[in-house]
Amino acid sequence: MNFANARTRWTLGVALAAACTAVIGTAAAVAAQQAAAPAPVAAPVVEDIPFASPDAGAVTVPSAPDAWGGPRTGNEPTLSDRVVAYRIQATLDPDKHTITGKQQLTWRNRSDRPVRAVYLHLYLNAFEGPGSTFYTEQRNNHFGFRSGVSVKEGGWGYTRLQRVAQGGSKVAWRYVQPDGGPATDRTVVRLDLPEAVAPGGSTTLDIDFFNQLPRVSARTGYYGTFHLVGQWFPKIGVLELPGERGATAPRWNVHEFHLHSEFYADFGEYDVSLTVPKGWTVGATGEEQGKPVERGDTITHRFVQADVHDFAWTADKRYAKPLDGVYHGANGPVKVRVLYHPEYVHNAKPVLDATIASLTYFSKTLGDYPYRTVTAVIPPYNADEAGGMEYPTFFTASSYANVDKGTLSRYALDFVTIHEFGHGYFYGILASNEFEEPMLDEGLNEYWDHRMNVANGEQVQAGTWWSRLIGARIAVGEFESQRLGGMLSEPADPLGNNSWHRFSSGSYGTVYSRTATMMHDLEQQVGKAALERAFKQYYAQWKFRHPSIADFREAMAEGTGQRALVERLFADQVYATRKVDDRIAEFDSDEVLPAPGMVEYKGKPVELTQDHLDKAVQKVRDRWTKKNPKADADKRGPFPYLTRVLVRRDGAAVPQTLLVRFADGTSRSFQWNDTAGERWWRVGVTSRSRAVSVELDPERRIFLDKDKLDDGMTREANGSAARRWSADLAALLQTAFAQLVTL
Ligand SMILES: [Zn+2]
Repeated sequence: MNFANARTRWTLGVALAAACTAVIGTAAAVAAQQAAAPAPVAAPVVEDIPFASPDAGAVTVPSAPDAWGGPRTGNEPTLSDRVVAYRIQATLDPDKHTITGKQQLTWRNRSDRPVRAVYLHLYLNAFEGPGSTFYTEQRNNHFGFRSGVSVKEGGWGYTRLQRVAQGGSKVAWRYVQPDGGPATDRTVVRLDLPEAVAPGGSTTLDIDFFNQLPRVSARTGYYGTFHLVGQWFPKIGVLELPGERGATAPRWNVHEFHLHSEFYADFGEYDVSLTVPKGWTVGATGEEQGKPVERGDTITHRFVQADVHDFAWTADKRYAKPLDGVYHGANGPVKVRVLYHPEYVHNAKPVLDATIASLTYFSKTLGDYPYRTVTAVIPPYNADEAGGMEYPTFFTASSYANVDKGTLSRYALDFVTIHEFGHGYFYGILASNEFEEPMLDEGLNEYWDHRMNVANGEQVQAGTWWSRLIGARIAVGEFESQRLGGMLSEPADPLGNNSWHRFSSGSYGTVYSRTATMMHDLEQQVGKAALERAFKQYYAQWKFRHPSIADFREAMAEGTGQRALVERLFADQVYATRKVDDRIAEFDSDEVLPAPGMVEYKGKPVELTQDHLDKAVQKVRDRWTKKNPKADADKRGPFPYLTRVLVRRDGAAVPQTLLVRFADGTSRSFQWNDTAGERWWRVGVTSRSRAVSVELDPERRIFLDKDKLDDGMTREANGSAARRWSADLAALLQTAFAQLVTL
């Protein structure tokens, strides 16, 4: 949806509302408020505990060893150092798509000072209208959310607090905009507590809330009888302490809901009772407790899960009988359930299989899956934007009409399933801050998902009905496909940037593809074993602890044992924006013949003229030809060859290899490990055989390079380099892949 359309539709909506109802005054006031440009900005509020910076991103300072209560060794009484406990009773009105909720939120003050005010996220308010930060960014920055489904009339959503109490005393609240967004944004609310929470103490807040779910446009909402309920309850912000994610003093990490942003929250316990009409199917985060309780026309399901930081659920009367499976892991059986609608019955088994395959791979390569359930939801027809989203122990996959093996749609279904399950580790268990450092979740997850496919011998299948008709099999390597979406020629944002300070939505998308490409290159340089060791170390050290980019960098530096290389890569790609571009500028290979000039002969200077030399050279040639009548002088002649190669570097330094191939079939390779910032590299080599071609990065290790077609040169026209890098030509397929890289 572009800027002009959005504005036109909105203006028309307001005009109609004014004409049809008696709220002309309200509509006009709203119109005046919204039409004012720039959008109103809230007056700065001096808080006793400050907010995290509105432009926070890539942390450079490693966290303290005791951050988040120290590493979780497995000997602690609980998996995570629990900060919150949510007890929620929620009732769904399936016709109005509303939820009435009662919530008991218990929060522990980990800091060394009394806390008088706390902050809650009210994420659904992003969907209440054009005044939210979410829609303001869409309008003012030309940002788009995935497929860009627009909100239809009557399809807005919101959440409202109805009552907040602390120990029976009423709690006052007001909306705040910690990132300086429009004053009309209501996604963060401040609660001023009647009684301060003592250092190390806890408080319990009783909260009544009401949700109007939006029609599905960005992850959450309803379509018909289908309800996917995410980011739906008032959720407390994270109070970060000194030594955690770069903080030097306590600070509230509670950003507004930005358009590209996902989430960040404390670990704790969730005990949630969900009341829906009888006969409806419910799926949710965690394990269901006992049999659901019927009361009149309704039924109440209770789900409990500890050591997670979010809770999502779904309810529909149209779900088919769930497809169940089991994964037998080191921590006991894991129940895997796939929820789907009758029209997508053929998608259910592939999703179940890919989920179990992911449980196997992630448990083996990072650490054993610590929970007892995984629930996967296949959204129904026309609710695609609810798909491709992760929540703890619960995710939404995609759906496709054709899931035949070897098709792009089957590849996409498998990949989305792997990706959303994989979030359970990077977003779920490692729980990095997706607002400020999305590369730690989306980027690393994307990388690990493609590694899983490589380990299982998969390739991006780009087959369509017409290609199969003509018997063509179109496949692109896992990481070649990532290069295509990486904006490698003109990267606009450092990978470590936060989710909202972005050149474009496409540039936010590079968090996925360029991070995966960078990690691919790092793995090529340090080797598979060292990389896997480093990731295992990262996971073991930081699970349940919210690591930062600096913590990840340290884990990579220590785990691979190659600190200099890791630090340079992070400096160039994570904390800054440097393209990589090495190319062959010149290449020739010629016979070395004696040259005219003065020589010393018997103590006297004698001039060798060209004439002398021509005769001498001819003599040598004749003798050689007589001896080797059928030989090819290029392969091995009477004179040696001098090969000269000039490499031009237009981007960041990378460990580079040059391979020179000779006519006799032999080859030699040369290394360039520059640390001085050179912009060129000259290689000269003398050999008995003439060089026929030169190639940079012959082992295809450097996928960040913006153009692989200029990495090779032959003496005579020869398309070998171009053929080797046919992936670049597959840019035509980029549109098809785009859907795979922003999930
Ligand atoms: Zn994702």
